[in-house]
This record gives sequence, C-alpha cells and structure tokens, in this order.
Amino acid sequence: MDQTLTKEVFKENPYIIKCDSLIVNVKDNWLQLDQTIFYAEGGGQLGDTGFIKTKDREIEIINTIRDGKLIKHITNGDIDLNINDKVECVIDWDRRYRLMKMHTCLHLLCSLVKAQVTGGSVTDYKGRLDFNLDYKPNKEEVKNNLNELIQGNHAVTDSWISDTELDKNPDLVRTMSVAPPRGAGKIRMVKIGDNIDYQPCGGTHVKNTSEIGLVEITKVENKGKLNKRIVVSLA
Ligand SMILES: [Zn+2]
Repeated sequence: MDQTLTKEVFKENPYIIKCDSLIVNVKDNWLQLDQTIFYAEGGGQLGDTGFIKTKDREIEIINTIRDGKLIKHITNGDIDLNINDKVECVIDWDRRYRLMKMHTCLHLLCSLVKAQVTGGSVTDYKGRLDFNLDYKPNKEEVKNNLNELIQGNHAVTDSWISDTELDKNPDLVRTMSVAPPRGAGKIRMVKIGDNIDYQPCGGTHVKNTSEIGLVEITKVENKGKLNKRIVVSLA
C-alpha cells in the first residue's frame, strides 16, 4: 500500500474550496490524494463531504476519515479511477464553513467556562462541549457572554510550538478527551484574540469571530455530578 502522506491544504488556508489533485491510491470505496482540501474527521470535528471531479464526471465524497497516516476520501461505491489520474476536489463549502464557525465558537465557549473539557463534537449547525464541573452554568448568561465574544471581532490565528514546549505547559491542553495533534515534533496552536483562548487544535477555524454570527445555547444538561454538557447551535 502506498504510504505517501497527503498534503493538507486546509491547514494553511481553510478557505480554499477547490484544488487540483492526483490520485495516489485507490481501493474499493476510498481514494487517497497527493493533496487535499477535504478535512479528515478528527478532534471532534466531522469530516468533509463534496465531489471529486474528472473531465467527464463527478464522484460524490460522503466522508473523509483518517486511517493511521492515510486520509481516505470515502464514496458510495467502488471507484472506477486509477492511480495518477488528475482530479479536481470540490468541498461542500457551505457545510464546511458552518463547521469552521462552530469549531471556533466552541473554543470561545471553552474560554468562558473555567473547567476541564471532557468531551465535545463539532457537527453541522450544532456543537457541544462537556465540562468537568459541579454546577450548571446559567444558559442565558453563557449565551450572552458567548455572543458578546463573537461580536468582539477577534482575530483567530495559528502557530506552531514544539512537543517539548507543550509538555512543559500541560495546562495548554483544555480537552482531556482529544489528544493534541502531534506529529513531526510540532503542535499546531490556535489563538483567539490576544488572550481569549490558546490551545492545541488541528481543526479548521474562521479568521475572525464575527464570521460566526449569533448563536443559541440549545441545552445545558446535567450528565452526572461532575459532568455538564453545553449544546450550541448556529442561528
Ligand atoms: Zn479545536
């Protein structure tokens, strides 16, 4: 099996919606590309969907997953394409943009609730975080504070630190259930504003919090004595 690593174009620029790629591996209902704009499911964020286009047809991609070091673009059935075929990737941008908004929104939520995150997910229109917390945060208050942060026009930027730097600062890891995106000795850090939020993350984010638009707190749930779940939805 070809173990060539796929270049993840979205890591440098998550706003690219089309790119030209070369098939480096194809088997049954999945294919691997030399470079891709499809985000592979991970870190709580859903994988991208969209199309792979050839000169004469379009193949629907129903999910993108990570299998070890491989990024697999999954289709509905067997793929009639060959290694070295040139294709064009087109992601379902509307859906991905909603996932970007929600992911950034959850980092803001994380900054508002001073507790360890024990779980979370970024899905279409909706997201949730579980906190290790012994009281139930006030729904209205969380909603108002979250929308205030969103409307604060804060820049979202990323940078890299070394594995050793992260190991020296374990407090930077806010989410216990998601391992930091390690690889090649460096970790990607996502920062919001000057000091609103700063944590390891391999997900896709909007450039500015104002892009998120207004959000609702759908639920604040008691999931156990020390587990409170906050569910957010895009307005
Ligand atoms: Zn994240």
